This record gives sequence, C-alpha cells and structure tokens, in this order.
Amino acid sequence: MANKLVMGYWDCPSCSTTGIRGDVHSCPNCGRARGEVKFYMKGHTEGNARKESDLADVEYLTEEQEKDASRNSDWYCSFCHSLNPDTAQNCLSCNASRASSEANYFQMHEALAQREAEHAEPQPVKPKKRIRLLPILLIAALIVGVILFMNANVTRGDYEVAALRWTRSISVQQRRLMEESGWTVPDGGTVTGEHREIHHYDRVLDHYESVPVQRSRRVIDHYETTYTYTDLGNGYYEQVPHEEPVYTTEYYTVTERQPVYRQEPVYQTRYDYSIWRWVNTRTADAAGEGKNAVWPDPGLAEDERESERAAAYLVTIRDTKKGTETDYRLKEEDWLTLNVGERIFITTKRSGSGPYISDEKGEKRMDLLPAR
Ligand SMILES: [Zn+2]
Ligand SMILES: [Zn+2]
Repeated sequence: MANKLVMGYWDCPSCSTTGIRGDVHSCPNCGRARGEVKFYMKGHTEGNARKESDLADVEYLTEEQEKDASRNSDWYCSFCHSLNPDTAQNCLSCNASRASSEANYFQMHEALAQREAEHAEPQPVKPKKRIRLLPILLIAALIVGVILFMNANVTRGDYEVAALRWTRSISVQQRRLMEESGWTVPDGGTVTGEHREIHHYDRVLDHYESVPVQRSRRVIDHYETTYTYTDLGNGYYEQVPHEEPVYTTEYYTVTERQPVYRQEPVYQTRYDYSIWRWVNTRTADAAGEGKNAVWPDPGLAEDERESERAAAYLVTIRDTKKGTETDYRLKEEDWLTLNVGERIFITTKRSGSGPYISDEKGEKRMDLLPAR
C-alpha cells in the first residue's frame, strides 16, 4: 500500500497571506502564482517523528484528492519564476513550455540557499578582550617586595649572656632474668615449657553449594511505528512509517555451584623460656650553673652497667632593651666560648625567625637551638 499523502501549506511572499493550501497554485488574495515558496505542514516541526498516538491533527488527503495528486515535485519556470504541477506541460502563469525549464522545487531551493550564502554579511570580528596587566604586575611586585623585606637579616647588639647552665645524664641498665615465650628460642634462652598453639589459619575448600542467581536479558517487547514526513515539493507531504522494536528487561534465575570455604587452624609448638637481658632501670642526673659541667657518678651495682649518655648546654640571653630573657640550647664547643655578662649580637630575619649569634656585621658565630 502506498504511503499516505498529507496536505502541505505555503505563504504568499507578495501580499503576506499565510496558510494557503498546497493544491492551490496561485494566491487567492493577490493572484500571484506561487514561486519561491517553502512548503510546511500545519502544527508540525520539520524533521520530527510522530508516534501512532500522535496523528490526530495530521491532515490526510481524501481518497478523491489522492487520486488526482502527483507524487512528483513541481517544476520551476525559469521565465516567470513560478512553480507548476508535474502534470502541466506548460507554465500555468506564462505558458512557457516545460522543456525550456530545468529546475524543480528542490533545485530552486538549493540555488536560493547558495545565493544567500554568497550574499551573507561577513561576521564582524570581535575585539579582543584586553587583560589589565599593570595592576596584576604591581600587586605581584608588592608581594615579592614584602617577602624580601621580611626575609632580610637584621643584626642587633642589645643582648647579654645572662646565665650559662648544663644538664648531663647517664642511663643505667640492670641484668635481669626475664620470662618470655615465642615460636623460636633466642640464643641464651633456657626452655621452661612448651605447648601447641594456633599459629595461623588456612583457607580450605569445604564443599560446594547450589545457589540461585538472578540474571537479566534484554528482549523485544513489541514493535512501535513512528512516522516522518517528506516534503514532495508539490504542496503535499508523504507520511513514511518506521517500525522500531521496543525492548524490555526480562529476569530469570539460574542455579550456580559456588565453593564454600572454612578456616582450618594450623598448630605449632610455642616455647616458654627464661633469658638474661639488660633492662633500662634508672638514670643518674647532674645539672649546674656555669661552665664546669661534670658527668654524674652512676654508683653502679655489680649487676648494673652504663648505657647511653645525654647532655644539654643552655644559655639564657637577656634583651637589655626589652628586659626579656630567652633560653637556647648550644653545641658544647660554642657554649664553652661564651661568658656570663658578655655583650653579644643576634641576627634574625626581620620577621624575628631564625636567630643566631653573630658579630656586629651579621657574620654567624654560632647557631641557637630551641631549648626543648
Ligand atoms: Zn498574494
Ligand atoms: Zn512561467
């Protein structure tokens, strides 16, 4: 069965009459033969597809109209620029013969489009946005300047060594018999007992189980017809059907064999043993003012020995201008060169960070470390 035909419409370009039926070849208002017109369907956007349920307002040709309607496009008279039905052998407007005209409705539109493209105005070039560079540079320079200023060194001489102090300590170890246990016995250990214990678990395949598993698949549910409309170029449209499958998701259950595991304990022998070990038990401390640092006498018992030694050499520096005092730690060889009451220079960043003892020109004499 041939596809159904649908009525098209056109607007008169001369007198602005709109909605003239496609089977009318001259304007009912001003009498002009239709020429360079574009056909359209009422209530329909070109290119849209319609569903079966959405055809109520489509204006089909009656059987009678269809009998007379041609499916071929109009031909375009090159003398008077009017469109003539395929059935006419001479122009309805000027009677020129069809043989002397070559273009049809579609070629006429192609030529129109080409002419429009040629006459299209060149797009004006957008002026480039100018970025305001100067304020950005100024701000960057200001930030760099502040950083440099705060990082610059400042040397001041309003300082005095207020006090020198020291602390020294020796940590003491004692030999003790320890009770321990482990999977192995270290050198020097004496075994006092042993027992079996869980060392770790192995994953062991126990059995298989049948498990229902849900699966899904896409299946065709039904077919749906949609329609598009083709401009025949003669005042009519052809309705073209398209059959498309509509899918649905179908669920089904399958039985799968899945392994079931259990945790199997693995036993090993664990040993109890006693072993002599050196254990940190106490420290011997000494502290004092001045520079005569001595190590404390740890007073070792027969089962004791010395372990690590630690020392701190401290200086209290007075800011004679502000009257404040700050403690620092020093390396021993630096600490030994200072004397109580000595005037010293300290160099810091302008921000106050990273102080060190220097000469009056800022040349470093020694590092100052945080007191604790
Ligand atoms: Zn008109
Ligand atoms: Zn003509």
